[in-house]
Amino acid sequence: MTDNLADKNNISSTNFIENIINEDLKMNKNNSRVHTRFPPEPNGYLHIGHAKSICLNFGLAQQYDGLCNLRFDDTNPTKEDVEYVESIQEDVKWLGFSWDDRLYYASDYFDKLYEYAVLLIKEGKAYVDDLSADEIREYRGTLTQPGKNSPYRDRSVEENLDLFERMKNGEFPDGTKVLRAKIDMASPNMNMRDPVLYRIIHARHHRTGDKWCIYPMYDYAHPISDALEGITHSICTLEFEDHRPLYDWIIDALIDKVDDFKSRPQQIEFARLNLTNVVMSKRHLRELVEKGHVKGWDDPRMPTISGLRRRGYTPEAIKDFCERIGVAKSNSVVDIALLEHCIREDLNTKAPRVMAVLRPLKVVIENYPEGQVELLEAENNPENPEMGSRKIPFSRVIYIERDDFMEDPPKKFFRMAPCREVRLKNAYIIKCEQVIKDEKTGEIIELRCTYDPQTKSGQDTSGKKVKGTLHWVSAEHALQVQVNLYDYLFIEETTPEGEVTNVLNPDSLEVLTSYVEPSLKDAKVGNRYQFLRNGYFVVDPDSTSEKLVFNRIVGLKDSWAKMQKSS
Ligand code: ATP
Ligand code: MG
Repeated sequence: MTDNLADKNNISSTNFIENIINEDLKMNKNNSRVHTRFPPEPNGYLHIGHAKSICLNFGLAQQYDGLCNLRFDDTNPTKEDVEYVESIQEDVKWLGFSWDDRLYYASDYFDKLYEYAVLLIKEGKAYVDDLSADEIREYRGTLTQPGKNSPYRDRSVEENLDLFERMKNGEFPDGTKVLRAKIDMASPNMNMRDPVLYRIIHARHHRTGDKWCIYPMYDYAHPISDALEGITHSICTLEFEDHRPLYDWIIDALIDKVDDFKSRPQQIEFARLNLTNVVMSKRHLRELVEKGHVKGWDDPRMPTISGLRRRGYTPEAIKDFCERIGVAKSNSVVDIALLEHCIREDLNTKAPRVMAVLRPLKVVIENYPEGQVELLEAENNPENPEMGSRKIPFSRVIYIERDDFMEDPPKKFFRMAPCREVRLKNAYIIKCEQVIKDEKTGEIIELRCTYDPQTKSGQDTSGKKVKGTLHWVSAEHALQVQVNLYDYLFIEETTPEGEVTNVLNPDSLEVLTSYVEPSLKDAKVGNRYQFLRNGYFVVDPDSTSEKLVFNRIVGLKDSWAKMQKSS
C-alpha cells in the first residue's frame, strides 16, 4: 500500500527546504513539530517578494500540519509606523492565511532581550564599546585583513554591567556607546567580528513609547524571538547566509542558561524574488510614494500587495505564481510575464466577458430605423457556459474602437475599411459606406454604414463570409466610464557595460474616457471583467455613483504562454 503523504513528499516534487524538514521529521527533531514565522519589519507596505515569503512560511505550516506566526520585527523605532502594521495584517489575510492568535512583536521581548544581554555580559560574552560608528568600521578590518580589538574590549564585567544599565537609563547620547558581542575580531566572517547587539536611539517607539532608548539589532533580536516562540525553521533570504554563524552563536550562548527558549531554531536561506521591470525594495517603493511618482502605496502600478489588489489581481493568481516560481538557493530574475500569465489563467473562466469601447469612433447605421432598439443575446463566458447569457441593446448609432478602422489598410488588416464588410459581435454584418472627417483637422469623426438584416448572429441566412469581428456598444445605451491603462513603472535599459538599469517610465498611466455596455451599470468595486479584445479590467475604488473607474489588470496577449510554446 502506498502512503499518499509520503508520495507527496518524495524527492521528485520536493524543494530543498522540504527536504530539510523531511529529514528533521525523520530524526524526530523538535518533537517532529514544524513551526515557521513571517517576520516583516513594519517600515513599509508588503510587496510581491513578501508574498513569496508568506506563501512559503504559511504554506509549509499548512503542508506539515504545523503553525506559522506573524511577527513584527519592530526593533527600529525611527522607520516604523502603525499604518504599516495594519496594512501588513490586511495583506496577509487577503492572501488567505491566518496566524490565529499568534501575532507577535519583537518589541514584546524587549525586557527579555535586555535580561539576556545582561547575562551575556556576565558570561564575558558582551561588552560596552565607546568607539564611534566610524571607528568601529575602521577597526573591523576588511575581507582580506583581520580587524583589531577595541580598546574597550577588556572592560570588567562590573564596569560593563554599570555602563549598559546607564545606557538603558538614558545617560548617554545617541551613537556614543554600543553593546557588542565578544566573538573574534579576526574571524574570516565579518559578521562575527564583535557585532553590535544594542545601540542607543532616543526615539519614541510605536508600541513601547518612551520606555526604551536602547534598541536591539536585528541579528540579536531575531534568533531570540524565534527561540522564545518555539520556531523550528527560521526561513529568510540569502543575504542572511553569512549571518547564520552569528544566529547560532547567540542561540548557543543562551540556550542552556535561560529557561524560556522553546526550541533551537534553524535558519534556512532561500533566494529572494526579483522581477523584470520591477523595483522591489521597500526603500525604493517608499521613495516612489514620497516623491509623488505614484499616487500611494496602493497605486495599481506598484508591486505592493495592496497595489496588485487594486490593480485587480486575485490572491489565487498570486499564490499560483509563488507556487510556480518555487524556491531555490541561487538568485535569479523572474519574467513579470509569468505573473501576468497567472492572472489571465485565473480570470479566463471566472470573469464575465463584456463589450467596452476604449477609444470610441461613432458609427451611424443609415438603414437601421431611427428609434428602434433590439435586445441581442450575448454569452457571458464561452469558456464557462454555466455563467449564462445576457441581453445587449443594439441601435442605429454605435461606437466601435477607433483602431478598428483604417482608411487605407495594409494587407493583413481584416477590420473595418471603406467599402468593406465586418461582423459586429453578437449582432449584424455592417458595411462602411462613407467616411466623415472634421473639415478643419481632417480627423475621422464618423463612419456611415449599412447593415444587412439577413446576418443577425445565430440566424444568419446570407451565406456571407467576413474576416473581422468587432466589439461595439450602442451609443445611446452605453455608460461613459473612466479607464486607466497601465504600463510598467520602470523600463529596463542596458548600459554600455551591459548592466541592466531601471528607468522610470514617463508613460506608465494613460487615462481614457470610454464606453461600456449597460449591463455594467451595477458593477461593484472589485468586480472583474474581460473587455472583449481589450484585456481584463477591475472596478477601482475611486468609482462613484456617477462614474465607474476601471483599471486594466492585464491585456489579453500572453507573452509568457508564447515563450513557453516556442521554447
Ligand atoms: P526589502 O529589502 O524589500 O525592504 P526586507 O527584507 O527588508 O525587504 P522585511 O520586512 O525585513 O523586508 O521582510 C520580511 C520577510 O520577507 C523576510 O523574511 C524577508 O526575507 C522576506 N522577503 C523580503 N523581500 C523578499 C523577496 N524579494 N523575496 C522573498 N522574500 C522576501
Ligand atoms: Mg528589512
